[in-house]
Amino acid sequence: MTLKKGHVALIGAGPGDAGLFTLRGRELLEAADCVVYDRLVGDGVLAMMPPAAEKINVGKTGGGDSVPQREIEEILVREAKKGRRVARLKGGDPFIFGRGGEEIEALNREGIPFEVVPGVTSALGGPACAGIPVTHRGVARSVHVITAHTKEGTIAPVDYDALAKLGGTLVFLMGASAVAEICAELRRAGMAEETRAAALENAGTAAQRLITGTLATLTARCAEEKLRSPALIIAGEVTALAGEFAWKKFLPLAGRKVIVTRPRERAGRLSAMLRARGAEVVELPCISTRRIEAELPDFSKYGWLGFTSVTGVEALFALLAEKGRDIRDIGAAKIAAIGPATAGALKERGLVTNYMPEVYDGLHLARGLAEITYDTPVLMIRAKEGSPELTAELAARKINFTELPLYETIYEQTGIIPRGADTAIFTSASTVRGFKAAMPELEIERACCIGEQTAAAARRAGFKRIITAQRATLESLIDTLEEI
Ligand code: SAH
Repeated sequence: MTLKKGHVALIGAGPGDAGLFTLRGRELLEAADCVVYDRLVGDGVLAMMPPAAEKINVGKTGGGDSVPQREIEEILVREAKKGRRVARLKGGDPFIFGRGGEEIEALNREGIPFEVVPGVTSALGGPACAGIPVTHRGVARSVHVITAHTKEGTIAPVDYDALAKLGGTLVFLMGASAVAEICAELRRAGMAEETRAAALENAGTAAQRLITGTLATLTARCAEEKLRSPALIIAGEVTALAGEFAWKKFLPLAGRKVIVTRPRERAGRLSAMLRARGAEVVELPCISTRRIEAELPDFSKYGWLGFTSVTGVEALFALLAEKGRDIRDIGAAKIAAIGPATAGALKERGLVTNYMPEVYDGLHLARGLAEITYDTPVLMIRAKEGSPELTAELAARKINFTELPLYETIYEQTGIIPRGADTAIFTSASTVRGFKAAMPELEIERACCIGEQTAAAARRAGFKRIITAQRATLESLIDTLEEI
């Protein structure tokens, strides 16, 4: 039998937040059997690694040593030779001081097919995140990307005399520990002391920090502010434009790193709303839902159908379709929905909601139904282990109800532990439980919860600072997040 050779994709992950990851990168990452990743890859991108893929961290962590380059190349070759689809994730762009070329040479020696997916390099995308246009009419007509360190970690032999003559913007990578040298050498080479310069730390992430000065003052400013890696040192007048062009720092959630725990297919809108407000978003779907087998009920027996989630609506329509039936089977039953999102899903399928509680949770839905259904039988379409508050209240009020469980919730193992997140967002009690099951060790300061039942679950899970949205909508949830 011939050995089926695999494939390696060298993928640039961008500077940090997953919003700057390419579509092609995501496609290949999601199809990978094995992911080999670096320290600089943002958590939001790491969170897209398929749960079933083998994950190999070759980056430095907590001061430990990174895996030597030769060994990384061996890993790529070895995994591809197993016939696997390997995603090699790198911070920024794979070819900008990413050693992508060396990895390709190794793959070529073994005849292993590969693909390169460019990424937003920190060298160019980083300044953009901080409002620094690396070229600007009348200010800089070229931009130059330089490494301050060699691959062995020593100070690189840079021709500062040549750089000083270029008159363009100079972007130094791996420069956090070489600020003094860079500034001094550029001055020695003839650049004016008052040339504006900046250090940009953690560009494109919640921890982004810009320290500005001149070639004369930047070194002291960086020492005062305790500049840390990863950082860019940018020399050139364009850095002064950040005063006018900076945009991110004014957004209400700038500097916040937020974990979104809802199932992947539901996370998109929430993540987009968070990004629009400046947050770095990590989607860690701690739960997923799976349909369970069910028989179609005899709808004519019920006066009301109750829906507690969009998933429930989708599952009912999937069941109808599976049985070769359609919306007409529902007949004359009235419809109750827990909140606007569920009502919206019903509306999309041609069903008008007759009742929605003031407060969008199970308890209030039950109370409302108790007031209006009298003796009419109610069919509650929901999850197998849905919130007990709803059924307890219906039972306490002697409502004639039947449960139709159409899906179940499964806890997901995310496989990554995000660094430095300040808040986790929970849109149901099951997301809290899933989160704790996936990451029991992770200490996160704040839990932002959609409603009382979710908050109660967060309290039980040991969160210290819990905030609850005024109303159970994503909009209200985000307003709450802005306040703390
Ligand atoms: N391939 C990467 C660069 C790898 S070299 C890219 O295209 O961005 C590592 C250096 O990149 C770091 O020392 C730092 O100078 C820079 N860097 C990477 N990510 C960064 C970030 N988010 N903010 C600032 N600098 C970053």
